[in-house]
Amino acid sequence: MLCEMCGKDVERTSRTRIEGSVLLLCTDCARFGVVLDPPPAAVIVAGGGLRRPPASLVPQRGATRRSDERDVFSDMGELELAPDWGRRIRTARESRQWTPDDLAKRLNEKRSLVLKLESGNFHPTDALVRKLEHHLGIRLRADPERSS
Ligand SMILES: [Zn+2]
Repeated sequence: MLCEMCGKDVERTSRTRIEGSVLLLCTDCARFGVVLDPPPAAVIVAGGGLRRPPASLVPQRGATRRSDERDVFSDMGELELAPDWGRRIRTARESRQWTPDDLAKRLNEKRSLVLKLESGNFHPTDALVRKLEHHLGIRLRADPERSS
């Protein structure tokens, strides 16, 4: 859509009252007038329709298909990690009031690796799992209930 003031092609325009006339303006130009449309983020669902994500999107405890994960990470280590290992690392680090840099130094790793670990974007090698458990005093491995 084209902004009627600056002519910029934007995804969304807002009906904006400026000096007695109503124009369709981009967000930049809308600041100069009174926006008549509520911004999308402020739209409130009327009628008490509480919106919840479908249950299928909420991780269920124990519902994770571990076998699938193993396929994805098959070349990244043998240890089976707890599903929330990234969060465990971060929680333990923060409880010690270590910055990601502090933990990285203790592990002799890069800060970016620590951040990737904590966000779950990097699956630690077995050696790294042991180092993390040692330095943070936590367990990252899944509970040994399935140790067949
Ligand atoms: Zn504009």
